[in-house]
Amino acid sequence: MVAGPCSAESREQMESVCVALARMPQVSMVRCGVWKPRTRPGGFEGCGENALRWIADIRRQMADVKRENGAGVLQFCCEVARTEHVELAVRYGMDAVWLGARTTANPFMVQELTEALRGTGLLVMVKNAPSPDVRLWMGAIERCLRVGVREVVAVHRGFDIFRNEGLRNSPLWEVPIELRRQMPEIPILCDPSHIAGRREPIASLAQTALDLGFEGLMIETHPCPERALTDSEQQLTPAQLAELLRSLVVRSTDSVVADEELRVLREQIDQIDSEVLQLLAARSRVAERIARVKREGNLAVFQPKRWDAVLHDRMVQGQEQGLSEEFVRGIFERIHAESVRVQEKAIGQPDAEAERRE
Ligand code: PEP
Ligand code: MN
Repeated sequence: MVAGPCSAESREQMESVCVALARMPQVSMVRCGVWKPRTRPGGFEGCGENALRWIADIRRQMADVKRENGAGVLQFCCEVARTEHVELAVRYGMDAVWLGARTTANPFMVQELTEALRGTGLLVMVKNAPSPDVRLWMGAIERCLRVGVREVVAVHRGFDIFRNEGLRNSPLWEVPIELRRQMPEIPILCDPSHIAGRREPIASLAQTALDLGFEGLMIETHPCPERALTDSEQQLTPAQLAELLRSLVVRSTDSVVADEELRVLREQIDQIDSEVLQLLAARSRVAERIARVKREGNLAVFQPKRWDAVLHDRMVQGQEQGLSEEFVRGIFERIHAESVRVQEKAIGQPDAEAERRE
């Protein structure tokens, strides 16, 4: 469990949050942004080296604070985006650093940073890039492993996409699930704060992450969120964090313990999925025939009015069946994109049936 403010803002703010977090046995590491990459210039840019000085002092003051349940001493991490940041993080005794989303998106920068991280012994957390490209995320992790970073952890902070369903970033859980499949040895933390962008959805996102077998969480915590200089809407107070930690349930993701009822239900799911696939294949074959008719009639593959009517109709049907609007919309946007692809392909190909007739 990593918690702490979006940005280190003052010595008092950091002391206050560290004292509160030290009382929570689940929290092993304090996070804080020291250099803040802002989307637009002119805002608060972080306190830089001063913040690292406060942290080093706080660490000394807290060295003999006894933590509950045998929890070890608090560790500290910050974001690094330039090689000088890595040098300063080492000089001030940070335990870990993270690569921010915008850094992971840039392999040039990741390469430079990993060269600077070589031999430092720092634990490195790699946030996913803003685009839902699992290879960029894996690439940054691989660059860390190649320079011999021994502890590399992935952090899922959601993705900037077209439709985010009331959240700041879309979780697109399938991306970290794919990362887990491709790199099973890399622990994954979820950062529900940046996914949510506001306080209310954080608890349920955190629970979903645990249910998916994520190893931990990174949650922004500020002694007074309404006065925070960055990400004020999404930070929790230490009391809210403690309440959230009490509410989380850790369940087994090891299906070896599955019982008979689960086995029977899974068989039903397998059968339904197989029917879904057969129907999708049948739909694609009809789309191919439609493509030929459109070609004869000199009609464009994409017909906006028809698509609007189809989407509207499927959303109404979905609602009648108790399916969520986002789900039905997402599925049909994907199905329609595939239909367009299939039709484009079919239009470019000679019509096998017509050729046989000739
Ligand atoms: C942060 O952790 O405060 C941050 C800037 O996050 P991200 O890189 O995920 O946007
Ligand atoms: Mn933040």
